Amino acid sequence: MTILTVGVVGAGQMGNGIAHVFALSGYDVLLNDVAPESLDRALGMIGKNLDRQLHRGKISAEERAAALGRIRTTLTIADLGQTDLIIEAATERETVKQAIFDSLLPHLKPETILATNTSSISITRLASRTDRPEKFIGVHFMNPVPVMQLVELIRGIATGEETYRTLLGVIERLGKTPASAEDFPAFIVNRILIPMINEAVYTLYEGVGNVQSIDMAMKLGANHPMGPLELADFIGLDTCLAIMNVLYDGLADTKYRPCPLLTKYVEAGWLGRKTGRGFYDYRGETPVPTR
Ligand code: NAD
Repeated sequence: MTILTVGVVGAGQMGNGIAHVFALSGYDVLLNDVAPESLDRALGMIGKNLDRQLHRGKISAEERAAALGRIRTTLTIADLGQTDLIIEAATERETVKQAIFDSLLPHLKPETILATNTSSISITRLASRTDRPEKFIGVHFMNPVPVMQLVELIRGIATGEETYRTLLGVIERLGKTPASAEDFPAFIVNRILIPMINEAVYTLYEGVGNVQSIDMAMKLGANHPMGPLELADFIGLDTCLAIMNVLYDGLADTKYRPCPLLTKYVEAGWLGRKTGRGFYDYRGETPVPTR
């Protein structure tokens, strides 16, 4: 199937990056959110990130202008009905995602492919509640989307071969590299990454190290480009906690229990960079550890 137009639901950190890379690769993009301020912020962020690519010589001024010209925004989800591919990138909560698909279904063309950028939720289960499980697939972009090379492609039990092949073609056109994963909780990257972050929070909780020593240890000792707590703030602590809960519930193994300190930060609304505070406080000139 040929994809020309793409709808993106959710204009947060991931949605704006997804809109950015699709528009830059020549797709017409319709970006939707329930919050008008998210749409405004997303357009601002896309402009800024395109500027950065322009200044680094990665794209031309014409490509930047053309990409911006291909992105439209809407608060009305029904407007996405005529697109060829819809990527859901809203908050990592199953009830939210389900409500989005429920409200989309009456407006869709029969051939439209539905994709979700979920980090952990079952593709099979999300698909089963739609009218098109064979045209439903997980397309898991990494953050920040314009920079990260990998896209995980996750087939639910009913995902059709044509849907999978179509998405392989789309990922190739975006200039990214696909990794196919089976539909089990958190897929490949987050199955490995998020328990490591959770363990770093336990290391902090138990007083083995402080924020600075834990991050420095993993950067200099394991050659990671970012420390695990810095990375947690970057991903969003609410998203990290949601993924741990999906692993814990889905695999029924106590080794995946979320660290109580991670829960406490989320309860405080200290969700990381996006709220100005997490394991670091970002409100000043330089990030300051909060522990
Ligand atoms: P975010 O909190 O930055 O953005 C979520 C957006 O969804 C917000 O703008 C919110 O207003 C919007 N939203 C909520 N309900 C909605 C609805 N009913 N209709 C339309 N929009 C709605 O979150 P994010 O980090 O961009 O994560 C989005 C998705 O991407 C999640 O499923 C997450 O697991 C996944 N993901 C996140 C990362 C990451 O590193 N943050 C990486 C890969 C995948």
